[in-house]
Amino acid sequence: GEVTPEEAVAVIGLGRFGSAVADSLTRLGHEVLAIDERADIVQRSAESLAHVVQADSTESAVLAQLGLGEFDHVVVAIGTDIEASVLTVLACEEVGVREIWAKAINAKHGQILHRTGAHHVVYPEAAMGERVAHLVSGKMMDFIEFDDGFAIVKTKAPTEAVDKRLGDSRLRSKYGVTVVGVKKTGEDFTYATAETVVAEGDTLIVSGATTKVEAFASTT
Ligand code: ADP
Repeated sequence: GEVTPEEAVAVIGLGRFGSAVADSLTRLGHEVLAIDERADIVQRSAESLAHVVQADSTESAVLAQLGLGEFDHVVVAIGTDIEASVLTVLACEEVGVREIWAKAINAKHGQILHRTGAHHVVYPEAAMGERVAHLVSGKMMDFIEFDDGFAIVKTKAPTEAVDKRLGDSRLRSKYGVTVVGVKKTGEDFTYATAETVVAEGDTLIVSGATTKVEAFASTT
């Protein structure tokens, strides 16, 4: 059927990253218009996506014809071909896409995308590389960092917090971090309160400035 542009997201470039974005958006209930210039990729993507179009996204006339100007959100997921990525962001800007998300493969690429009209630039490889480095080198079981130097991590409870109420272990004043959740082995996470008593082997979800959270995790 027809895609209703207000509820829809267009994903341009159906490589590994773009197809993961398109599949997840579909699962989240969005209508997805997927675009790629390669026939074989369009054919493969059509198995899991309802609306897949073969088109060259660097042409604003093509995007206008596909109705992209009516879309609130477009994700430009072209990485390797920087020229195609930049021209596509420019074309999206020209046809009046309200919010352009774009993937960059490095900082220079990202800068160009910002100047060309992308509202949000993501660096999937760099972000995942940084995350894996945290997991490999530290005591973190998971690490998520936000744009503003703020992070949430999953880590083991430090000895100094064991058998105490969180309110009494003073982690916030000592380390500048906030324990958000506590998980006992085999149980679900519970929201942490000042009364929560931490046991040895518990897993904590901790938030705060990235450097603070890193310093805290290294004590565990
Ligand atoms: P990944 O690293 O996530 O696999 P790629 O950059 O390798 O991403 O894939 C980008 C996709 O974008 C490819 O499937 C390619 O065919 C598509 N693509 C590249 N240029 C254009 C273009 N001008 N118009 C439409 N699709 C394009």
